[in-house]
Amino acid sequence: MVVALEIIGETGLLSWGDRNFTDLTHMLGEKIFIVSTIMTPQDLKPYITHLPAFQVIVCNLCGTCVPPNDPLLHYKKNHTVKKEHPILMNVRHKVADYMATLDLCEPKKVTPPHVRIPELKVISEGYRCKYPGCDACGTSHGSMRTHYYAHQDNVPNDFINWEPTALQTFFDGQHRKYDNPYLY
Ligand SMILES: [Zn+2]
Ligand SMILES: [Zn+2]
Repeated sequence: MVVALEIIGETGLLSWGDRNFTDLTHMLGEKIFIVSTIMTPQDLKPYITHLPAFQVIVCNLCGTCVPPNDPLLHYKKNHTVKKEHPILMNVRHKVADYMATLDLCEPKKVTPPHVRIPELKVISEGYRCKYPGCDACGTSHGSMRTHYYAHQDNVPNDFINWEPTALQTFFDGQHRKYDNPYLY
């Protein structure tokens, strides 16, 4: 008899349904063969959403994309047991394994589509530069002011030529690219 065992969290405790390893050993004698956890892409649906049109995987709990070059880092940063949305170690590895089978876009090559992506979180306090033809976005007056030096040499403290807008970004961190999906 072959039984699939699940590794719970980072403790290494084995369980099967609501039984722990001790119960299982007792129940089956010594005839236990540990095979890998059976988890299909369907089982990963609560955790991730694949957007083939953009070749990205969105983390459903964060509303940002999981970088394909290091999926586990996303979980280490955002989903350990101390965080708001902890995710079990075996799930993290299954996500990583699944992502390795897909043709995904490198974060730096993702192009903001200028349409609202329902799976991505909305950053409601954003700004869009009003310099003709610019459209650059940021999340603070300070960042917009810094940006505006691209257009003119002097940007006084009370200068504002940007308007509030909602923003989205596929990736966070170094590959963050704010997009203004014209939600207003
Ligand atoms: Zn996440
Ligand atoms: Zn600008």
